[in-house]
Amino acid sequence: MNLACPQCAQVDQVQSVPAVHQGGSVAHTVVGGAIPVSYGDGNVTYVQGNYRGTSMSAVARELDPTPPLRGGGCFLALALVLLIPAFFMTLIGFLVVGDNHPEMAASPIISTITVFAPAGLLLAMVALFGGLYGSRVKKNRHLRQGTPESRELWASGWYCHRCGGVFLPQQTRHEVPVQQLMTPSTFRTYVWRAGGYPAP
Ligand SMILES: [Zn+2]
Repeated sequence: MNLACPQCAQVDQVQSVPAVHQGGSVAHTVVGGAIPVSYGDGNVTYVQGNYRGTSMSAVARELDPTPPLRGGGCFLALALVLLIPAFFMTLIGFLVVGDNHPEMAASPIISTITVFAPAGLLLAMVALFGGLYGSRVKKNRHLRQGTPESRELWASGWYCHRCGGVFLPQQTRHEVPVQQLMTPSTFRTYVWRAGGYPAP
């Protein structure tokens, strides 16, 4: 396999895409450290605290195979917030039915449906938002894992630190030009496409 960069024809600055991505991501923990907080007006204050995070170099971020994930927290919050009135409307429904109103005895089925309709509607919305949250969580897990196709293409890319581009040294089963330098974001778009995710 010829690993020479198609642009500068050198191999010394060429590194595989997963290695560049891994090498540019640094997990760090600051215990009891001083964290600078900027107020935006040039003043900086320091607060004590523990901080855990991952720093990624710009190149590592550009070579990240995971598409941007969309959180589902808002759906969960909506489901939980609606659960409270749904519970009370159900409770009120049972209290009304338990009161044995004479007008309910005339058409008990229609009356019962009417009494429980608000609770039913709220519960349906809870189920809807709960379901949306579940599907978002599932989709994000899938995006994080990637597909065998996207992983394979990602792992067969090589990055030239001198030219700042990615190339494929040899033919893959994906429709990506071989021996041609492309920007990291173009390569990432190919990877996402291979995984079946629409390009953002
Ligand atoms: Zn090069």
